[in-house]
Amino acid sequence: MADVLRVCALYPDLMNIYADRGNLQLLQRRCEWRGLGFELSGVGLGDSLDPDAHDLFYVGGGQDRDQALCAEDMASDKREALHKAADDGKVIFAVCGGYQLLGHAYDLDGTKLPGVGLVDLETVREDGPRLIGNVAIEVELDGTPHVLAGFENHGGRTRLGAQTRPLGRVLKGHGNDGRSGFEGVRGGAHGTVVGTYLHGPLLPKNAWFADWLTATALHLAVSELAPLDDRLEDAAHAAARRAAGI
Ligand code: GLN
Repeated sequence: MADVLRVCALYPDLMNIYADRGNLQLLQRRCEWRGLGFELSGVGLGDSLDPDAHDLFYVGGGQDRDQALCAEDMASDKREALHKAADDGKVIFAVCGGYQLLGHAYDLDGTKLPGVGLVDLETVREDGPRLIGNVAIEVELDGTPHVLAGFENHGGRTRLGAQTRPLGRVLKGHGNDGRSGFEGVRGGAHGTVVGTYLHGPLLPKNAWFADWLTATALHLAVSELAPLDDRLEDAAHAAARRAAGI
């Protein structure tokens, strides 16, 4: 059994708004508490990405101007490696601005930022208010329904291709575009490419989801991870659900 979770953060200094680094800290702590190793590397603009050297690739949220810097680099220099990683069943987990770059393009007032095309979706910055607020979605990852609760703040509206699976259905909040009732995406050859608009950061409020990401990245069932005392995490989850109104 793999006993080290190797995480690679893409553009950690540019794509990190809304305390998204907390997602990485939570993954690290839960590995340490379980006696699993944890390795974190970062790749930035111009760096090469080795698809075989990591189990989980993470892209956080970013403002439009930081996204524009990363989009070109990701689509030209890192696209191939990310496709190989997804084909090999590695986890690619992207939040908000990072999520928008998983698809074909992010159309920002007529300027198209390229995406890496890992999933069939497109994002468009439309006139109208930003989609902001607490949000809760229902997610089914392994046959059991769970609630993921967090916070969203995006100007882009994301539309999934007809065959593309969302990560979940909106219970409260806006989700991908404020209309479809879908939130996020789950795709890739092995269903291991996951994007979502939820931050805050997301994982400390949804430790169950962090465990699913960890187990999937290590090719384990969640039940094979050692149980932890999750009283604080459960309270954080309950508070996030209450904030969203469910
Ligand atoms: N810049 C993107 C948007 O406004 C993503 C924002 C974010 O990551 N919070 O849609």
